[in-house]
Amino acid sequence: MFATDWHTQYNLPYRFKTKFRRKLTTFQKKNPEITPFTITEKNLASNWWGKAWNANLKNYTFNNTRLEKGKLYFRCEALADFKINSNNIEAIVLGSKVQPYNVQITIEPISETLWTKFQKLYDGHLEAFEKIIDNQFPKEMADIFTNKPIGLFPSKTQITFECSCPDRANLCKHTAVALYALGAKIDNDPKLLFKLRGVNILEFISKSIHAEREIILKKAKKKNPKILKNTNLSEIFNIEIAQ
Ligand SMILES: [Zn+2]
Repeated sequence: MFATDWHTQYNLPYRFKTKFRRKLTTFQKKNPEITPFTITEKNLASNWWGKAWNANLKNYTFNNTRLEKGKLYFRCEALADFKINSNNIEAIVLGSKVQPYNVQITIEPISETLWTKFQKLYDGHLEAFEKIIDNQFPKEMADIFTNKPIGLFPSKTQITFECSCPDRANLCKHTAVALYALGAKIDNDPKLLFKLRGVNILEFISKSIHAEREIILKKAKKKNPKILKNTNLSEIFNIEIAQ
């Protein structure tokens, strides 16, 4: 018994978790509309793209201590509320004071020119897109996320952080909590990052289907120019292809 008491008393995550739970109960009574972020997995992210997002956070700060503290807070359920809008994230994070802190993260949309480059790179990779729809992100398309500086992961100048805490650092531990929460969300649904960068994933896929159609038609016409002169893919495969 003595050993257990000693362990729980000096176990930092346990103490933080207990403290945050107490604070959350009080805060929630006054703010019933909030949706606390509960941690269900032991790991912060289990897929390669979620892990890549978390590793990418080092590019936003020189101070890894705040990132580490944020990771600990996140694991100890310090996130009282988390909302993702079109290109910004609003979070309420519990901290050392009674009143929680408000965090805002804003991400710039990716430019159309850069996006067109990606479109060309992945035109015709329909199998890969099928995986994306299933919330799996093929490793062979890793460039879409991680390519610097044109991937979907925002560069240091394409993302801004604000927090109501007194820490003047660009990325405080409360902001880090929200960034790890975003990593967990992206880990579950990689399409989310497309949305945050202002890219319509369905449009991206649709353009790729058209490109694939052109490739198949060209090949088919080369092999048999007479038969395929006035036909289209919808007729050949008996499927509806959006124009
Ligand atoms: Zn802060």
